Amino acid sequence: MKRVVILLLYFGVLVNCQSKKDIAQNTQPNVIIILTDDQGYADVGFNGCKDIPTPNIDRIASQGVKFTNGYVSYAVCGPSRAGLITGRYQDRFGFGRNPLFAPNDPNQGLPLSEETLASALDKVGYQTMAIGKWHLGAHKSQRPLNRGFDEFFGFLTGGHQYFPHLWTLNDVSEVNSQYAAYNTKLLRNNSRIDEREYLTDALSREAVGFIERNSNKPFFLYLAYNAPHTPLQATKKYLDRFAHIEDEKRRTYAAMVSSVDDGVGLILNKLDELGIDENTMVFFLSDNGGPNKTNGSRNDPLKAGKGSLYEGGIRVPFAMCWPAMIDPNQKYDRPVISLDIFATVAAHSKATPINSLDGVNIIPYLAGQKTGYPHEHLFWRKFDSRSYAVRHRNLKLISLNGENEELYDLNQDVEESHHLTDLTQKQKLFESKENWDSEMIDPVFLGLMQNDEYTKLKPDRFNIEPY
Ligand code: CA
Repeated sequence: MKRVVILLLYFGVLVNCQSKKDIAQNTQPNVIIILTDDQGYADVGFNGCKDIPTPNIDRIASQGVKFTNGYVSYAVCGPSRAGLITGRYQDRFGFGRNPLFAPNDPNQGLPLSEETLASALDKVGYQTMAIGKWHLGAHKSQRPLNRGFDEFFGFLTGGHQYFPHLWTLNDVSEVNSQYAAYNTKLLRNNSRIDEREYLTDALSREAVGFIERNSNKPFFLYLAYNAPHTPLQATKKYLDRFAHIEDEKRRTYAAMVSSVDDGVGLILNKLDELGIDENTMVFFLSDNGGPNKTNGSRNDPLKAGKGSLYEGGIRVPFAMCWPAMIDPNQKYDRPVISLDIFATVAAHSKATPINSLDGVNIIPYLAGQKTGYPHEHLFWRKFDSRSYAVRHRNLKLISLNGENEELYDLNQDVEESHHLTDLTQKQKLFESKENWDSEMIDPVFLGLMQNDEYTKLKPDRFNIEPY
């Protein structure tokens, strides 16, 4: 009798798993990308962080998979986002610099030749919304509602003040310098609004509202928190949690990460409450490594941070869950990259991308259907500083500022502290990089590093129509 019960239970579980997967395979999954800004590799609980609890972000990893070798395609904000949202190396289309705030210039941002994930999903019936930091172009042609999003709530530039009393500019016509745009009122779609909440809380509230409004149809939410990017600003509610952290920078940073974590909790709880958690893919990652001196973040044990092609600049806290399709509590150690999100989502949403993608669908690797490496090579380059890196399995070749290549075995030496002298491997990796590089193009716009040069070339830069 006992054996029969066990068998029945066993088949019950099998049927249940099978039906979950069948449903997922035949139903377009909801998709949520939660992107943080300048959060360090070490600053999530699932990567071992002790002084900043992130129980809600950790739920994404425990309900699915944490990627210990999860990368972004660039070491600062703008190009990393361009890669993520197109699924393609951003140097393919000249997005090799951090764009300037230049609402009069249609070339400062994501070229119109590029299809965003939102556009691809919009065409197959998804309701789409971008929340938070855009940073892919402030010209009218490039704003979220013209790039595949049905709804937008947030701001256009590369950062923002967090407190409502600092949003003193009515619209972009009052912006007269690169960073003044941090002080504009927020946008809801194409209208400026009077928001009263701490920015991170407002973004979380909007995310929950969007999920509630769209629980009966497939949706795509791109939630790009600007926390914990500078300026370091947090409310008492969050600061009070970290009175024990002595370093003021780290304390405020911790409070900002904690505010994001609360938001992630609200989102996951809402999915549970609506009964749509099983067939919702949730991705969590940071757009680049932590700039530890600027915001108090940590990337240890990785070398360097934001802006660098050493691991600390490009390897980020990265996790995903999709309970209907992938098992919980997984740890995946092979390299994956933010470019894989587009390919993974496209493969399961019936979307047909216009452009060829550089990412791959990672679900078969996580579901045990495919072994091997999702990528034989991953590449990075920083055009202006003549720096590049290439990763092949456990090996990484890196060259900074046009100087000699350094070769590392990341399985043995994640800190990138011991050069290897294998000339054959160096040559092989260099050649693969050269092949890749030949497909890339030069930047098509001047960037943040050329701010003064750009302003001289475009004296009407801040002569902007109200918007
Ligand atoms: Ca960033």
